[in-house]
Formats: sequence, structure tokens, C-alpha cells
Amino acid sequence: MNIQRVHYCTKHDSSMGPVVYWMSRDQRMYDNWALCLAQSQALEKNVPLFVVFCLMPRFLDATHHHYHFMLKGLREVELSLKTKNIPFVLLLGNALDTLPAFLEKHGAGTLITDFTPLRHSRAERSLLCQRLRIQVIEVDAHNVVPVRIASSKLEYGAYTIRPKLQRLLPEFLEEFPAIVKHPYLCAGPMPEVQWEHAVSTLRAAARSGGTAACESGEAAARAVLKDFIANKLAGYGAHRNDPTLDAQSRLSPYLHFGHIAAQRIALDVQSQAEAAPAAEYLEELIVRRELSDNFCLYNEHYDTFDGFPAWARQSLNEHRKDARTHLYTLEQFESAGTHDLLWNAAQCELLATGRMHGYMRMYWAKKILEWSASPEEAMTIAVYLNDTYELDGRDPNGYAGIAWSIGGVHDRAWFDRPVFGKIRYMNANGCARKFDVNAYCAKFSRGA
Ligand SMILES: Cc1cc2nc3c(=O)[nH]c(=O)nc-3n(C[C@H](O)[C@H](O)[C@H](O)COP(=O)(O)OP(=O)(O)OC[C@H]3O[C@@H](n4cnc5c(N)ncnc54)[C@H](O)[C@@H]3O)c2cc1C
Repeated sequence: MNIQRVHYCTKHDSSMGPVVYWMSRDQRMYDNWALCLAQSQALEKNVPLFVVFCLMPRFLDATHHHYHFMLKGLREVELSLKTKNIPFVLLLGNALDTLPAFLEKHGAGTLITDFTPLRHSRAERSLLCQRLRIQVIEVDAHNVVPVRIASSKLEYGAYTIRPKLQRLLPEFLEEFPAIVKHPYLCAGPMPEVQWEHAVSTLRAAARSGGTAACESGEAAARAVLKDFIANKLAGYGAHRNDPTLDAQSRLSPYLHFGHIAAQRIALDVQSQAEAAPAAEYLEELIVRRELSDNFCLYNEHYDTFDGFPAWARQSLNEHRKDARTHLYTLEQFESAGTHDLLWNAAQCELLATGRMHGYMRMYWAKKILEWSASPEEAMTIAVYLNDTYELDGRDPNGYAGIAWSIGGVHDRAWFDRPVFGKIRYMNANGCARKFDVNAYCAKFSRGA
């Protein structure tokens, strides 16, 4: 493994106890650099290896629907790890409350975890590191090029991060080692995970994002990838922006929950596809996705007005008092109750399936800006709806996508116009020039 993936979070040296991998963002056994490092360290020291997941009863705007998807994936991880003699432990509660006692009980010598750029998780990690007296290592198992290595600063846009990623890709885009049957077992039997009990501890909202038409877990993610490469990749560039077609990969929920590594997707796409379509797909999968992680790591205001670039804040400020043609409440947006059939259809797609097509997400967020009393209110509404109803929500891609749509992040200034100021505008006529708007509305309008 490229050692640049590793970030030391404490100054303590590794000691002789078992190695614990605190799995968080990357919920998989295969192709997981954090687990690979944890096992190689445990093998070097001849000690047992544990994989631990801390189940918070509530997490941002996640609903039972998200938890259901996640827990199904984690059950699969537990079974896969069992075949490798690696115990999977589910701790009920946040890491700060549960992990120190577990580490102490098992005399752990090293804690390894995966990387996330999100504020609340980073804050929890840094508090945890202050409390622990053992070595804590973070491994960027989510990105092809580790975010900190790709860039040490907030990037302006795809055009500034792309050359950096392209230069570093040959160094990082390598095959993963396999996880082997672990020869060192912990003393005494590990308690079985009580999945039913775990579900009963959840305090997430019962609200559902629809019955997402996708199976959870690593095997399902690999099957979706296989189908995408065989049947959709060739037409990706030509059709990905048409919401009436099923031309995107639909891999975002699996990437979000870490059921599949972006690096596995990139390796398979590169080895099995013709060059041209692969390039367009890899631009989204690597450049746009890693730009989102860069945005959230280096801009702590990634989900509010304060995170917008100065030109956008100034321009939106100048248009605060502009008359809005329509003003809607959160409830009206949420229930797809606007005057605009196309916007309502996008919201209905989200409510019914837990997923909105990528092209419609831009239109959807921009109209929330146009029909809200302020850009701050628009951000709050868009983030809430995205995080609550998108199966792939609560993700850096979501915060970056919303901030791009409403606040010009990673974009440039356009013509000045009411309400939007210099933020790029979108309207239904533009959509009609790109795809069959009526067909989309017929498919997803209320009652359809
Ligand atoms: C307002 C708004 C909200 C969004 N919310 C989310 C979200 O909550 N979660 C999420 O994962 N993505 C979000 N996106 C980004 C993008 O729309 C989705 O990643 C994509 O539509 C998911 O479908 P797919 O996996 O079939 O994508 P594909 O087109 O098949 O792309 C493959 C992968 O590339 C990455 N990708 C594609 N487009 C983008 C992009 N614009 N920015 C960053 N990465 C991208 C994703 O990881 C995606 O899974 C949002 C975009 C906007 C404009």
C-alpha cells in the first residue's frame, strides 16, 4: 500500500496489543486500504485483529431507510470477515462513549480508522484521539488519490484539481491485496452481534425515502458495477444527462456507504472499457467526487451560505431584496407542491425511489434558491431534503453539489439576473432542449 494514504492522528507509538480497525465510512471487507493496513500490522506483530463499528442511534438527517440499507451491508461484512477469522463487533452508541472501553478491555495496541472530511465526524475523532493513549492512524480508503495528498488547500474547481489528480493517479491506482485468513485469534469467544436489538436502539426518523430499487451490500455493489460496464458505459457520455433514460451507473449509494471502493470501479472500468467512454465516467468518479471531499475537508462551512466564494456571497447579498415570483415553505417543497410540474416530478422521483437523477438535482436545487426567501433558507431546505430522502445523502458530493447549484462553488460568475445574481441559472426551457420533459413528468408526477 502507498504509505502516503496513512495519516498519524496521535504521537503514540504502536504497542503490542491487538489491532482494531474502527470501520466508519468504508463499510466493506474487499478493497479496503484501512483494513489491509490493519491486517498487515496485526500479522507483523502476531496479534489478533478486530473490526469495530459504532452505531449511533441518530445521524444527521438519516432515516430508518438509510439505517436499514447500512445495517444490511454491515451484516454482510460480518459474514465475510467471519470466513477470515476476523471478529466484527457492533458497539451501540457513538465512538467517544463506546470505543475507549472496548480498546482498554482488549488491550489494543493500535487503532486504525478510515477517512472522512465531514465536520462532525472529524470533531469526534479529534476528541477521541485526545483521550486515547495508543497509536491512532487514519487511512484514506475512500479516494483513489488521498485527499490530503491530492491537495493541501481548498481548490477553486475541477480545472485546478484535475491536473494534480492526473499527475498522482499512476502512483495510487494499484490493485488491492487480498485479506487472508487471520491466524491470531482473540482469547475466548466473541459475543454474536445482536442485530434485532441494535435496530431497537435507533432514534432516527421513521420517514422513508421510498423503496429504493437497489439491494444493499458489497456483492450487490459489484453486480451493479458489472451491469454498468457491460450495458451502459459505452453510452454514458451521450445519455447520462437524460433523466428519462437509465444511463448513469447508480453506484452512488454504494460509494456513499463504502460498499465498493471508487478505486475498484476505476480499475474495472479502465481494464474492461474502450478508452473514450471510460474517460468521461472517470472524470465524474474521480475528479468531481474527490473535488467534493476537498471542498468539505478544507471548507468547514460546506453546508451553509458562509461556504460560498466571496463573489457569490456578494452577488447574492445584492439580490436579497429582489421580489420572488413564488415563495414556498419546506413543507410545500417536501410534498412536491410547487406550481412547476417538472420540479414536482423531480421531488416525486426522490420521494418514491430514494434517488433523483443527477441532471435534475441541479435544476431542483437552483429552483429552491429561486423560490426561497433567502439563500440561507434555500441551503437549509435543500440540505435537509437531500440528506433525508436521497439514499446517497449526507455525503460530501451532496454538500458540494448543493453549494455549486445555490452558491457558485466550483463554478464561475455568470450574467447578473434577479434573485440569482451571478449564480448560474437553469430553467425548464433549457431542460426541454436536453430531454423529453413531458416523458419525465409523466413517469414521476404525483400518482403516476
Ligand atoms: C444538488 C445536488 C445534490 C447532490 N447530492 C448528492 C448526494 O447527496 N450524494 C452523492 O453521492 N452525489 C450527489 N450529487 C452528485 C451527483 O448528482 C450524484 O453523485 C449522481 O447523480 C449519482 O448517480 P450515479 O451514481 O448514477 O452517478 P454517475 O453519473 O454514474 O457517476 C458515478 C459516480 O461519480 C460521482 N459523481 C457523479 N457526478 C458527480 C458530481 N456532480 N459531483 C461529485 N461526484 C459526482 C458519484 O460518486 C457517482 O456515483 C448531487 C449533485 C447535485 C447537483
